[in-house]
Amino acid sequence: MTELLSVDEALQAVLARVEPLAAERVAIEQASGRVLAEPARATCDLPPFASSAMDGFAVRAADTPGRLPVVERVAAGRPAARGLAAGEAMGIATGGVVPDGADVVVPIERVVADDDHVEIPEPAAASTNVRPRGGDVVAGEVVAEAGVRLGPAQIGALAAAGVGDVECVRRPRVAVLATGTELRRPGEPLAPGEIYESNGAMLRALLAEAGAAVESLATVADDEAAHRHAIERGLDHDVLVTSGGVSVGPHDLVRRIEAELGVEEVFWGVSVKPGKPLAFGVSGRTLVFGLPGNPVSSLVSSVLFVLPALRALQGERDPAPRYEHGVLASAVHADPRRDELVRARLNVAGELEPLTGQESHMIVRAAEANALIFVPSGANELPAGTRVRYLRL
Ligand code: AMP
Ligand code: MG
Repeated sequence: MTELLSVDEALQAVLARVEPLAAERVAIEQASGRVLAEPARATCDLPPFASSAMDGFAVRAADTPGRLPVVERVAAGRPAARGLAAGEAMGIATGGVVPDGADVVVPIERVVADDDHVEIPEPAAASTNVRPRGGDVVAGEVVAEAGVRLGPAQIGALAAAGVGDVECVRRPRVAVLATGTELRRPGEPLAPGEIYESNGAMLRALLAEAGAAVESLATVADDEAAHRHAIERGLDHDVLVTSGGVSVGPHDLVRRIEAELGVEEVFWGVSVKPGKPLAFGVSGRTLVFGLPGNPVSSLVSSVLFVLPALRALQGERDPAPRYEHGVLASAVHADPRRDELVRARLNVAGELEPLTGQESHMIVRAAEANALIFVPSGANELPAGTRVRYLRL
């Protein structure tokens, strides 16, 4: 491991190998978290008609103030049978169609009404409480662009604009494989020398949240045949993510078996802490990530490289990690050679408080973090108050 790539170089090397996946039709009810493959356009004007913003009376502004006969009552979904003539009023509910001829809705709180007349004491200004047709969007206009990940607001907007299904990039199929003879399933008793397997469940949670359809392969011992069999299965996905077995020890088999199975290694080793021994390769269109086994290394490498790859596979416009800017609450020592991602909490003052317990096996300490501070290599100490960039966890 002589020539380590920088974090940015490694990210570019990963993204250069990603081709977005094909699209599929998805019902709007199923589209939360999915990425649009093409722009989605409104099928109608919204509102589709001039609609009332209040419960009240539709009238002509020119007839106010005044006492007017109530000639009809309009409910939401039940328009008036005819237009409104001069000198008339119609009762109207919120969301009701404002009748032709009316130009204002006077709220019920501003009138005195009896069974068949309404007294409007104040002059009303035209167009008040009338929501014009197409005021939100006009039929044919783009509601959400290609490359947008659909959240609740976008789903609501599409549904309101009459879009029942959308063209989304299909979910990446991701295989997750944990390697290590020492690993036991949580809940089972530990024999001497064993630890609980945590990366599998963690990666599954992380990658599923990023839109992947995750298949968890059974954990394999540090055994060549077991590796070969599982990795072969994993290569049948859009992405294979392994954990463990990518360092320089005699039991680190992942890279060698992958090479035997025809995986082209793009790089091995990134100048970052934690996560230095990350391996990345490709096999046909399958992206192959070999994450280091230490849980915090696995987590950080995934956030830095696997999640951007998943976003790019799904056609997201800006797949790179989204750094935000913040201020250190206390000092941080930089590593002289490697960029470091320091686990931190945003405190109530909005400052970043680095956590104690920054070693790469300390996943329980890391679980307190809601931010990863990017600390560039070199500088000796970044004092409290230093402006830094960070990723939200
Ligand atoms: P490795 O990268 O295989 O050398 O593993 C580095 C360290 O991470 C070792 O202490 C492993 O026991 C531990 N480790 C590897 N895989 C996992 C895993 N899936 N869950 C928890 N710890 C792991
Ligand atoms: Mg191992």
